[in-house]
Amino acid sequence: MDIPADAEARRAIAPVICYPTDTLPQPDMVQYAAARDGMTKIDEVIAPPREAATFTVPAGHIFRISSVEGPQVGDLNLWNASDLSERFYSGKTRALHGTHITTGERMWSSFPHMRPMATVIHDSLGWYGIDAFGGSVHDVIGTRCDPYTGNLLQGDHYHHCCHSNLTRALADHLGVPLNEAEPHVHDVLNVFMCTGFTRDTGQYFMKASPVRPGDHIDFLSEIDLLGALSACPGGDCSSEHSSDAAACHPLKIEVFAPAPGALDGWSSPPPNGYDGSHGR
Ligand SMILES: [Zn+2]
Repeated sequence: MDIPADAEARRAIAPVICYPTDTLPQPDMVQYAAARDGMTKIDEVIAPPREAATFTVPAGHIFRISSVEGPQVGDLNLWNASDLSERFYSGKTRALHGTHITTGERMWSSFPHMRPMATVIHDSLGWYGIDAFGGSVHDVIGTRCDPYTGNLLQGDHYHHCCHSNLTRALADHLGVPLNEAEPHVHDVLNVFMCTGFTRDTGQYFMKASPVRPGDHIDFLSEIDLLGALSACPGGDCSSEHSSDAAACHPLKIEVFAPAPGALDGWSSPPPNGYDGSHGR
């Protein structure tokens, strides 16, 4: 391998942040906190172990994902409830907010809409930060466990991966065959999952989630949402996924109406303002 004479100098150049967020429109977290104080529960759904559940949340409402019974990771998909082509965009969310999201950060939607779909307004694991391994919680770097990668690496046919769980749950919700539902399933927010990249090899890693029963993450829905959450077959993702080996627990999803009047003056964000002409 030819190493240039100025290799160290090139490596020593300091990085710049790709997307500084000083001009990113910020949510009014004081108003959102007021909406959360005094909210009223209107719905509850359980995602059973190794299964997914769907739920709907009107714009300006709150949804909470909670650990119940034992440490468990969840794979979350979000769609615009009236247009499934607008869906969560994990890659752009990562580019704007970094590898993991917490309070004050948002789940952004796909092009050409690219607007906030949901804002994290409370995270009981917000204390975790970034650990000594570079790991943190609620990642937007993984995809979702799926039977195709399992088949590639192990040659098996495991059917309760998050991808398949989400596909079945969406098909049931829409009343369509699996092959019509599957293309709508997309890269997830890995709720409660503790992940990072190894410093030496740059590989995606996971470790036992710090989540415990009672921990929860709360979101304000910015638009009318259809959500699907899979209780990952990896359980707390401390050892393996894509199998029935791990201890696996349910996850609870609750939907709340905001405190009356708290969101006065708030409005659902419009689609992205780019004119769409692409230079023509
Ligand atoms: Zn999974």
